[in-house]
Amino acid sequence: MKSERIPGFGTRAIHAGQEPDPTTGAIMTPVFMTSTYVQEAPNQTKGYDYSRTCNPTRTALEQNLASLEGGQHGLAFASGMAAIHCVLNLLQSGDHVIAGNDLYGGTYRLLRTLYAKFGLETTFVDLTDLQQLEAAFRPTTRLVMLETPTNPLLRCCDLAAIAKSCRKRGVMTMADNTFATPYLQNPLALGCDIVAHSTTKYLGGHSDVVGGALIVNDAELRQKLAHFQNSCGGTPGPMDCFLVLRGTKTLHIRMQRHCENALTVARWLESHPRVARVLYPGLKSHPNFSIAKKQMRAGGGMVSVELQATVAQAKKVASSLRVFSLAESLGGVESLVDHPTSMTHASIPAAERKRAGLEDGLIRLSVGIEDAEDLIADLDQALRRLK
Ligand SMILES: *Cc1c(COP(=O)(O)O)cnc(C)c1O
Repeated sequence: MKSERIPGFGTRAIHAGQEPDPTTGAIMTPVFMTSTYVQEAPNQTKGYDYSRTCNPTRTALEQNLASLEGGQHGLAFASGMAAIHCVLNLLQSGDHVIAGNDLYGGTYRLLRTLYAKFGLETTFVDLTDLQQLEAAFRPTTRLVMLETPTNPLLRCCDLAAIAKSCRKRGVMTMADNTFATPYLQNPLALGCDIVAHSTTKYLGGHSDVVGGALIVNDAELRQKLAHFQNSCGGTPGPMDCFLVLRGTKTLHIRMQRHCENALTVARWLESHPRVARVLYPGLKSHPNFSIAKKQMRAGGGMVSVELQATVAQAKKVASSLRVFSLAESLGGVESLVDHPTSMTHASIPAAERKRAGLEDGLIRLSVGIEDAEDLIADLDQALRRLK
């Protein structure tokens, strides 16, 4: 039997799914700006018939992302929400979903306001507590949706343990791996069925494109998802695919620097007198440090900070930063700051945010790949305004 050596992450990031263009030798995958493809005879195609169904630039991206996650099949979408929406189409009215209780706000909204009216029931639990998960299962439970690290509290749940518990019951697991990226963590290898991404974030990496993806191993599951992808039509255009494909080429290098900078910033913040708590999975003080260490290569680029401050003061700090830009989103080369309770997580009712431990004094940092000294100097000048 021929054993094929699997190339390392960086080599796959740059090459997987891509061949020099056979007609010209162009080293970069062309942006196939076409809606349709000429057929030799009815239904006699070269594998492509209509660009909602498939497009060669998208195929290259899908294969690249599958390779990075260590999966068999990739599916690209017009946004992370279109990807997650596609997964929910696997369910039926009356089915039950268990979801993490500090999910991305858009996912929460999709479950709570859009799918609830079609008779899909969701229980939100703290998935870092396996007993809460066990207690939430019902005979009708079909899917567990999780994020790790979560947004914005950066809690880490045990992917292998959750996948094992779900498998035993025939329940599917979907892990949103947007925060960790495939460079840091591979949920499929730990037993999850579906990996979801907002490629808008680290995979694109340059804040210039909105996109999403799903990666699976099972061919039948891929078939179903591809059917919904084509039926609902939330597919990305070729230029967007090209931009994400360009982003993934440097994912490993960017992630190394994101992680280094985030750790430096987290350590500095931890010793600051006006900081109540720093939440960073790479710090020993993080409640889920041991789980993060077990399943992640490093702590990631996101740092959340609970300030000893009122809401108004927290907003003031967020607005006084100069190198960090005040904006939603994350994962780009430039540093961003977010005040979750008034921005990204405002759609979650205040009582529920409180229950999940999301305080008004919390700010979330997407630590970019600038020089760490400049990031710290910036945080220093903004925090001085609290005195
Ligand atoms: C941004 C984000 C999404 C949604 O992705 P879009 O590309 O904005 O649609 C989903 N999950 C997580 C964790 C995200 O950060």
